[in-house]
Amino acid sequence: MQTSFTLAQLADPNIAEADRILRACVHCGFCTATCPTYVLLGDELDSPRGRIYLIKDMLEHDRPATADVVKHIDRCLSCLACMTTCPSGVHYMHLVDHARAHIEKTYARPHIDRWLRAFLARVLPDNGLLRWALGAARLGKPFSGVFAGLGLAPVAAMLRLAPSRLPAKAAAPGTGLFPPTAPRRGRVALLTGCVSPVITPSINAAAIRVLTRHGIEVVVADAGCCGSIVHHMGREQEALSAARRQIDALTAEIEGEGLDAILVTASGCGTTVKDYGYVLRTDGAYAENALRVSRLARDISEYLRGIDLTSKRAPSGLVVAYHSACSLQHGQKIVGAPKELLCKMGFVVKDVPEGHLCCGSAGTYNILQPELARRLRERKVGNIEKLKPDVIAAGNIGCMTQIAAGTVIPVVHTVELIDWATGGPEPEALAGKRGSSAAVAPVAPAK
Ligand code: SF4
Ligand code: SF4
Repeated sequence: MQTSFTLAQLADPNIAEADRILRACVHCGFCTATCPTYVLLGDELDSPRGRIYLIKDMLEHDRPATADVVKHIDRCLSCLACMTTCPSGVHYMHLVDHARAHIEKTYARPHIDRWLRAFLARVLPDNGLLRWALGAARLGKPFSGVFAGLGLAPVAAMLRLAPSRLPAKAAAPGTGLFPPTAPRRGRVALLTGCVSPVITPSINAAAIRVLTRHGIEVVVADAGCCGSIVHHMGREQEALSAARRQIDALTAEIEGEGLDAILVTASGCGTTVKDYGYVLRTDGAYAENALRVSRLARDISEYLRGIDLTSKRAPSGLVVAYHSACSLQHGQKIVGAPKELLCKMGFVVKDVPEGHLCCGSAGTYNILQPELARRLRERKVGNIEKLKPDVIAAGNIGCMTQIAAGTVIPVVHTVELIDWATGGPEPEALAGKRGSSAAVAPVAPAK
């Protein structure tokens, strides 16, 4: 694609990168077929190619974002299916990230939208505030229909998505050092994430048990959110601050006792951490450490595949529908590892038809674009239920919450099944459905 940025514009490294990305696009349109919003809406402007044109026009003319551009970019899930399909290697993720930051700087959203986004950006990354907000949402749940009737669909979506019960605060493993319980063969850092410790602390607890059981020392640093949530909302400075906080904490570990890997159990966060090296490439004080952190970052399934896991109990042919999170399959190109691990542990793993299509979770998308998210969830759940699985496994807390809101089939994280098969407790969501006991001792750091 031809571009016409001026030399002055190209002096901005973000514009220079956008120019490079735009020039790689050959307008072939292959990406449209796998774009969830194009599949649902059939509008070229809701396809990757259409959005690329909108972004090109906005950036070349150095124009503030218009309401129309914002509408079509907001509808993009950042699922990155288009990047998997594109034969020309167009890095849509960096382009749309830049467009979102441009929108945030130049477009005045309606008041209610601004308030809602500010609320999500403040509350979701903060464990304490999130716990409080989810407590309040539980009380408001019966009134979700009233909010929908008042035209406040995002508030109604938030209430519907809020879990009806929260695990005890003490169920989260906390921060500190978790020593191996077998001969030591490695040392890793585990990112806590921000939503997961509040609504499903069982995920990181399971990861810590699997790792320490196999001789891996785990350190959990107290650095808060990785910045993914605000990054996808175009709140660039907040995202960079969160990234720098993580990098400081992880660099201290790398330069202290050393790390073999930095593990993430939420693939949405993993994609962001793997991109720290890019987003901080022009920050002289952080570029080098950011790149080092990105290079060490691994999804939990990616790391566990390199370990000789010991299966202690065969889960008697339990049928698992494996939902491949977009951030894992498209963002990190991890497709086979989770399924291979589950098969090796004795589960019967089934691929979900139309597995390349997003479930509609996409960070805060299921709150900010509730109607499209609902349609995508219904399509996803319909495809999953055709498989008649005993359980659904996914590697991302966002997808787990989104899918669980549309089905009675239990939804668990892949690592919870691996933990169970290697000697840990049966995942709580599954035990509840099977009527077995799920009393689990809390996982606590040694110091
Ligand atoms: S990221 Fe997903 S929703 Fe956005 S343009 Fe690409 S395929 Fe479509
Ligand atoms: S598939 Fe790639 S090259 Fe073709 S239109 Fe889409 S982004 Fe452009």
